[in-house]
Amino acid sequence: MEDVGKNHRVQNPSDVMRKAEEYCALHGLQFTPVRRKVLEILLGSSQVLGAYDILKHLDHAGFKSQPPVAYRALEFLVKHGFVHKVVHLNAFVACDHPDEEHAPMFMICNECDLVVEVDSNPLPRSFASTTKNSGFHVEEAVIEMKGLCTACAGMVVS
Ligand SMILES: [Zn+2]
Ligand SMILES: [Zn+2]
Repeated sequence: MEDVGKNHRVQNPSDVMRKAEEYCALHGLQFTPVRRKVLEILLGSSQVLGAYDILKHLDHAGFKSQPPVAYRALEFLVKHGFVHKVVHLNAFVACDHPDEEHAPMFMICNECDLVVEVDSNPLPRSFASTTKNSGFHVEEAVIEMKGLCTACAGMVVS
């Protein structure tokens, strides 16, 4: 089945990889082979991947990693913004602009699980003022919208 253009794909994987290398060098962080491989797997994937899928890819690539190793690598990549977790799908996706401070926001298709990252920096004004008025200090916001992507919406109509 051809899914061209339907799924998530980072435009410049090598660019993101270079940014990750620079970031780690700058902050004195170890960009270990397994961390690099996990990012590479996600950058090369046209779809979001669950931790189990990533583990399988690692295995194929000859990394005899134990699950905790893969999970820690994912945790590292998420923490530093190279990868986002799509909570609704319990899956991970590489970010294509990790060097920009942003709160990821996703559009998720109900039909084909297409995930598109939308930039939400700054947070929508109404959202920000609501939380501010409540006196609640937001450290993290997960915004995931579900609906139909253009391709699936087209199929429903026709
Ligand atoms: Zn992002
Ligand atoms: Zn769709």
